[in-house]
Amino acid sequence: MIDTYKDKGLRKRLIDELTHKGINDKKVIAAMLKVPRHFFMHTDFRTHAYQDKAFRIAEGQTISQPYTVAFQTQLLQIEKGNKVLEIGTGSGYQASILVEMGAKLITIERNEILYENATKLLHKLGYNATCVLGDGSLGCANEAPFDKIIVTAGAPVVPKALIEQLKVGGILVIPVGDESVQKMHSIIKKSKNNYEEIILNDFSFVPLIGEQAW
Ligand code: SAH
Repeated sequence: MIDTYKDKGLRKRLIDELTHKGINDKKVIAAMLKVPRHFFMHTDFRTHAYQDKAFRIAEGQTISQPYTVAFQTQLLQIEKGNKVLEIGTGSGYQASILVEMGAKLITIERNEILYENATKLLHKLGYNATCVLGDGSLGCANEAPFDKIIVTAGAPVVPKALIEQLKVGGILVIPVGDESVQKMHSIIKKSKNNYEEIILNDFSFVPLIGEQAW
């Protein structure tokens, strides 16, 4: 896998575009400049890797739009050493950004083929994440609690398990809505039974499928 000067130049241009769209967290920007997004896409689509667009990967799923990755990651306020749960590994791109930022990452994927591909790829690239095959709408009880949780598929409601598995002071970022459009929710757990929910912009994710989902 080669990351050419041309790739690096295109990546820099894409990140400049994201800063113009309002992304300003320096740690997010540094990680996105570093991780070659084209490694997570089929080689046929390599020329599209540095456009601010979502793209089809295998199994009818998508690699999120770079703006969406930046927006969600920025909301998470990742600190080095944070224990983070990602739901929807997909290509592994979002996972690699989180690991690059110093997160101790557990990432869950329900689709076996995507799980296998991402596990191999993350390992090959040296991104040390724990990949799990399963239904992330139930969280990951044996690894809980988490400092941060990010859901990269659209949910009909906020799954209760995810709030339960969050530490007090932790943040959950999740798109909630119907199957075509969802609003980004940022949920901060204030105490054991109390949380604050901020509802932000519209996004369009593939559906979260599972017991506490579609
Ligand atoms: N974060 C990914 C984007 C993945 S798209 C990336 O950077 O490429 C959403 C992914 O969520 C899909 O791969 C889909 O299979 C997965 N998914 C949907 N419902 C799920 C569930 N209940 N548990 C785990 N993964 C789920």
